[in-house]
Amino acid sequence: MGGFDRTLTIKRVPTVVSNYQEDGEQLGCGRNCLGKCCLLVSKLPLYAYKKEDGVMNEDSMAYSVDQGPPISFLRDLLLGQWEDRMRKGLFRYDVTQCETKVIPGIYGFIAQLNEGRHLKKRPTEFRVDQVLQSFDVNKFNFTKVGQEEALFRFEPSNDNMTHYFPSAPVTSESESPNIVAINVSPIEYGHVLLIPRIFDCLPQMIDRVSFLAALHFAKEAADPYFRVGYNSLGAFATINHLHFQAYYLQVPFPAEKAPTRVISEAKVIPCNGVVISQLLKYPVRGLVFEGGNTIEDLSDTVASSCIRLQSTNIPFNILISGCGKRVFLFPQCYAEKQALGQVSSEVLDTQVNPAVWEISGHMVLKRREDFDKASEEYAWRLLAEVSLSEERFNEVKAVVLEASGLKEILTHRTSIKEEEGNEESFHETYESAKLLLKDCIVLQ
Ligand SMILES: [Zn+2]
Repeated sequence: MGGFDRTLTIKRVPTVVSNYQEDGEQLGCGRNCLGKCCLLVSKLPLYAYKKEDGVMNEDSMAYSVDQGPPISFLRDLLLGQWEDRMRKGLFRYDVTQCETKVIPGIYGFIAQLNEGRHLKKRPTEFRVDQVLQSFDVNKFNFTKVGQEEALFRFEPSNDNMTHYFPSAPVTSESESPNIVAINVSPIEYGHVLLIPRIFDCLPQMIDRVSFLAALHFAKEAADPYFRVGYNSLGAFATINHLHFQAYYLQVPFPAEKAPTRVISEAKVIPCNGVVISQLLKYPVRGLVFEGGNTIEDLSDTVASSCIRLQSTNIPFNILISGCGKRVFLFPQCYAEKQALGQVSSEVLDTQVNPAVWEISGHMVLKRREDFDKASEEYAWRLLAEVSLSEERFNEVKAVVLEASGLKEILTHRTSIKEEEGNEESFHETYESAKLLLKDCIVLQ
């Protein structure tokens, strides 16, 4: 199977004129950075999203994201701006030149050969055994980044409408801004960072307000191929300054195609409508949050779970998929296993860091030999190393259910263990997964 035709996407994207200062005018600290010194004397484009679900007020200057075009305005704005920064040479390498292939098989794991990324990335500057660590102004953080890397602000609007302002001043009276910036070491087309309340210098840690902004970001992009991800410390976050990542990749992720089984039910009636499922037939054990009467319901349930995982020092990764309607939560222990010398050398040699994208099935490989020989079985084996054991996962599941205010469904049908397959016999699990997935595969 050959590489993707990325040009299909690229051609659709209109050019958007960027607004950052290009005239070399010296303002602020003189570095034109994303700190208060420079941002408070600058203008950035502002995308102000509607906070509430529900009925839209018709207005000539605003539009509803629920009513037809321009439904993908945010996505087109983002990709157009991203391409503008690519033309300006702001990335460390050209990710569109990286070889990518869908690995033949039922799951459709995606492999990318990215030989330079790990050489050009910043080294991790903190401990990997603590999920919560305080912000350190002396270490790299996003306020030090140049404004040319920022694409726009992403803020809730104050009138329940969606607006776009091509140039809006950041004032000291306004809230600390949520900034969307390029990831200078992209792993895919349109790879950006959402940095909530940048002036607040928050450590990498989920809070309710920030997580809700991330869900809105996925919702406003309004494209199922635009995913938002999060890595906690200890689960391959590399910068301890709160950020979500997002990019555009026009294929379903294997995790999105895996079957699930509902495991939660409401403790109290009326419930908020959020349902938690467990992923089945997938190499990494994980939970899927869906539903909710409002976007806040879904957001709060996930955030409560993450906050509890953080306080109990359990590292995790999050994938926000389905335009903000599905949230995958993967607790993991790879860094801990690595430190204890419990990861197989075959897997260690690949130097793959299993962060949210890898766990979701988009494998960024550093060596040509791994890319060339990559098979579905190889991808499965690599990811299986990341998963919690069944016993540990059940403990974490109980923590999550408790934190989310739901309770586990007690079922007399086949147990999850039987559906998942026997842990010891990887091949059996893998083979039975192939059979099962034949019935529910998404045709491309
Ligand atoms: Zn500055």
